[in-house]
Amino acid sequence: MALRFQIEATSGAARAGRLITPHGEVQTPVFMPVGTLGSVKGVPQEILEELGVEILLGNTYHLYLRPGIEQVRRLGGLHRFMSWDRAILTDSGGFQVFSLSELRKLTEEGVTFRSHLDGSTQFLSPEAATEAQIGLGADIIMAFDECTEYPAEPSRVRSSMELTLRWAERSKKYFEEHKHEVPWGRGHVGTAAPTAPTHSDRTQALFGIVQGGMDPVLRKESAERTIEIGFPGYAIGGLSVGEPRKLTREIVEATIQHLPAETPRYLMGVGTPEEIVEYANLGIDMMDCVLPTRAARHGLLFTSEGKISIKQARYAGDRGPLDPNCGCRVCARYSRAYLRHLYASNEILAQVLNTVHNLSFYLDTMRAVRHSIALGDRPQFLSGK
Ligand SMILES: [Zn+2]
Repeated sequence: MALRFQIEATSGAARAGRLITPHGEVQTPVFMPVGTLGSVKGVPQEILEELGVEILLGNTYHLYLRPGIEQVRRLGGLHRFMSWDRAILTDSGGFQVFSLSELRKLTEEGVTFRSHLDGSTQFLSPEAATEAQIGLGADIIMAFDECTEYPAEPSRVRSSMELTLRWAERSKKYFEEHKHEVPWGRGHVGTAAPTAPTHSDRTQALFGIVQGGMDPVLRKESAERTIEIGFPGYAIGGLSVGEPRKLTREIVEATIQHLPAETPRYLMGVGTPEEIVEYANLGIDMMDCVLPTRAARHGLLFTSEGKISIKQARYAGDRGPLDPNCGCRVCARYSRAYLRHLYASNEILAQVLNTVHNLSFYLDTMRAVRHSIALGDRPQFLSGK
C-alpha cells in the first residue's frame, strides 16, 4: 500500500479529499511548503507542525549535491534525518538541473550538468533520479522529466515531450524494481538504526508528469500517454516558466480535463494566494511554491488586506498587528513597527517571523478553500481589498 486518495466533497470542478500516505494523512487541496535542503528556511519543524503542515516538499537536486543521497539514506532517510514524521514529496531534480545548473549535455540517457556549488560534473537520468528519491524516502516521488523552456518552437516542444514520456517509462521501471529499498520499507537492509516497523509494508508512490509546453493539443497527448504508462497520481509540469499568468491558467484547464478524476492532481510551482484558490477551483489537489517563503525573506508579506512590504518607513511607528485577521503566533504577538525594525536591522528573527506568517496565510487560505468545498460553495479568495 503506497497511497490512497479519497474525494470527500466536490463543488463545481473543485474537490476536497484526503491523501493517505505512509506518513500520515494530508487534507486536499493542499499547499506544500518548500523545504529545499531538508529545511523550510528559518522555520523549525515543530512550528511547521503547529501551523498544520501535513506535507513538505524536498528538492532532490539540492540534497543530491549536499549532503548527498547516500548520507541521508544511511541516516534513515529524509524523514528521520530532518525529524519530520509527516508526509514528504520530493521532486525529481529535473527542474533544478535545467534552471540552476550549467547544463553540460542532454542525451537520451540523461543529463550531465555542473553543480552550482562547486562546478563538479554530475549526472542525472531517470534511473539515477529515481534511485536518489528512493534513498531519500519521501512518500511521494516524481518521474524524471525535461522541463521545456518558454518560449520554444513547436518541434522542440514535441521532442521534449516525447523524451519526458520515454523517461517516465524508465522512471517507473526502475521504481518498480527497487521500491522496496526505501529506508523505511521491508526490503531495506541498511546500517542505520532499526526503522519503525509500523511502516514496513508500505512503499513510496511515483507520480507521472505531464509536459507539452503551451500547446493544448500536446498537453492532451502527453496526459493520455502518461496515463497509459500508469501512475497513482499526475502532475502538471512545465508551467511558471516565464509565461503570462493567463496562459498558465489556460494550460492548466486544457490539461486537467484529460487527467483521471480519481487520482490526485499536482500543479507544480504555483502561485500567489489568489492563484492557488483559482487552481483549486479548477480541480487541482496539490500545489507547491517558493513564493510565500522566498517573499517573506525579502520582507514581502501576504495579508487579508493585500500585500505589505514591511521595509517601508510608514510601518516604523505602526503598533498594529501585521494582519488583524490572521491568527498566527506572529500576528498575535508582534507589531508591524517591530517587524519593520527587525527587517531594517537585518535581524535573523525577521526572516523567521515573516516566513511563519506567510506560510500561515497560505495554509489558512487552503483551509478556507477546503471548508468552502465541504459546504458545496465555490472557494473564493477572501481579501479586504
Ligand atoms: Zn499572521
